[in-house]
Amino acid sequence: MQSTPAARNRTWLFCATAIALQLSACGRTSPETSQQLAAFGTIITLRYYQTPDADAAQASRELERYFRSVENDWYPWGNGELQRVNAAIAAGETIAVSPPLAELLQRSAELEQRSGGAFNPALGALTELWGFNDLLREDWRPPAAVDIAALLQHELSSRQLHWTGNTLTSDEPRIVLDPGGISKGAILAASAVILRELDIDSAIVDIGGDLLVTGSAGGHAARIGIREPDGGKAVAWLEARPGEAIVTSGNYERFFEYAGTRYTHVLDPRTGYPVVDSASVTVVHHDPVLADAAATALLVAGQRDFDELCAALGIDLALLITVSGDTRLTNGMRHRVHWQTEHDTGQSAGHDVPQ
Ligand code: AMP
Ligand code: MG
Repeated sequence: MQSTPAARNRTWLFCATAIALQLSACGRTSPETSQQLAAFGTIITLRYYQTPDADAAQASRELERYFRSVENDWYPWGNGELQRVNAAIAAGETIAVSPPLAELLQRSAELEQRSGGAFNPALGALTELWGFNDLLREDWRPPAAVDIAALLQHELSSRQLHWTGNTLTSDEPRIVLDPGGISKGAILAASAVILRELDIDSAIVDIGGDLLVTGSAGGHAARIGIREPDGGKAVAWLEARPGEAIVTSGNYERFFEYAGTRYTHVLDPRTGYPVVDSASVTVVHHDPVLADAAATALLVAGQRDFDELCAALGIDLALLITVSGDTRLTNGMRHRVHWQTEHDTGQSAGHDVPQ
């Protein structure tokens, strides 16, 4: 399978070590400091502006502690809490779920409903059938159509889940819960709370290109490049404003090619097949969880249902690029996006474009 370096990184399963530490001694306030670490199968960059170095170092420690606490527990195919929740569903058992995971799963169920099912966090069995759960797989080929159809006979939906407080029961044992389509958004939201509690009001948390800006980021608005579907160059960029999250879902994040066709990891719940027409969707919103779910759902919905789904989800800022290079934008996004000219230096999505 071809994938981004982030996807190839297997640190989702195993704790990784910090790869760069640029924070210096206590007592100083640097205009900008940053730290990078590996978690959730990607690189996380933490940037602080006009923040005492000691405070930035403490924030990085607290954030990393939080990342480590959820990276295994929120992964369906690890050996943490979500794996145990899915085992209980498969066995037809009732299970008590910890408050953070219960909140994530309940929010994902709400977003499934609001997206008309384009976002579906109960599709893990389909992801397994396509093999995207197996990070080491090499013999990629699509599953048999008959197996896909057989799986879709069952109602793989959060509607089959019943919550009593934080205790969960499922009517459908074939459901494998996979909140991967909103987990980065939820982690961004929790990071913002941690930073606020530490009185750090000017920072950027960037999880492999999905990011959140708190405060004014020292007046350095983050310029986020939106990459062209089949290249590393940015076709456009936009500036993140205080409190905004910018989240992108793309068909290039994880995929395999078989007989000349690209099969991407975002699956269309209606067909059981990977998304075909959409190459990437970028969503900007103050709620990172909504932004993350919406980016995934809009990638599934494609051009035809773009306006309707943006309206249903309350998304004012979204940009869809199709595999053939067509674009769809909300009116709000039309005022925010800057198209890259031939002479500009292009960079990959999620990286700051030179100012
Ligand atoms: P994202 O990068 O946020 O679009 O999330 C992609 C991940 O969400 C995939 O790797 C799957 O784990 C999961 N996923 C795939 N298809 C869907 C879908 N239609 N709805 C919700 N989650 C999905
Ligand atoms: Mg998403």
